[in-house]
Amino acid sequence: MERRKFIKAGTFSLLAMQLKEFSNTFQQEQDIVMPAMFVGHGNPMNAIEDNEFSRGWEAQGKLLPVPKAILCISAHWLTRGTRVAAMEKPETIHDFGGFPQTLFDVQYPAPGSPEFAKETSTVITKTKVELDFEWGLDHGCWSVLNKMFPNADIPVYQLSIDYYQTPAYHYALAEELKSLRKKGVLIMGSGNIVHNLGMVQWADTAYDWAIEFDTKIKEFIDARNHQGVINYKDLGKSALLSVPTNDHFLPLIYTLGVTDTKEAISYFNEKNTMGAVSMRSFVAGLS
Ligand code: ZN
Repeated sequence: MERRKFIKAGTFSLLAMQLKEFSNTFQQEQDIVMPAMFVGHGNPMNAIEDNEFSRGWEAQGKLLPVPKAILCISAHWLTRGTRVAAMEKPETIHDFGGFPQTLFDVQYPAPGSPEFAKETSTVITKTKVELDFEWGLDHGCWSVLNKMFPNADIPVYQLSIDYYQTPAYHYALAEELKSLRKKGVLIMGSGNIVHNLGMVQWADTAYDWAIEFDTKIKEFIDARNHQGVINYKDLGKSALLSVPTNDHFLPLIYTLGVTDTKEAISYFNEKNTMGAVSMRSFVAGLS
């Protein structure tokens, strides 16, 4: 080979190598799928107390890869139609009463993510999603993140729950959010599998029906029987008592909707407490 041609060939093979390296790195970034999570949030005081549940959240935060943004579907943002919060700086909403001033003093100053909010509104085709500039971060979201990501430096935004729709509708809508996980978004449903405020006891105890329902739902999750969870009312009396209104149950449906049935599930805070509250939480797809 002539010297000139040799140099040319060498340059091309170097370029090819660099391109391959670039495409590998690019591929790796594309291949990282953020885990999805369901968190039982329970008593708002968990946001500031050092207890078994808040320690569970802290530990989980250390196990998770750092997300580009967190999309929270909270039991406490119920709307007609679906909305996505798209502000730059979401306010910390103290949406509760009768708690000490120290809880009202908590601020979770994470930035919002107008970009991911817009993208979320476009990946959902099932319904028209309105961008929202009023709702900030409610306690279903910040009480958990205050412990899980205490630096508040990861953008957080919320998607509302259309409270006029069925669990099957929410599951189908959630399936459309799956692609966000590939873009580095941590999707977090925040509610409680068992949540009956009328039956709450301020003690570390649990009714038999609460344990029965929580166990049955875990069995469905383990068996990847998402239909069983969607049709939770079929469980009869234990469902009626555990889910008197389904605001706290629907965030679980969202987490399952974005979860691939082959993904590993790992539980944390697996406990029933206060008589009628299950704190069971899990992360899917954490390798
Ligand atoms: Zn709640």
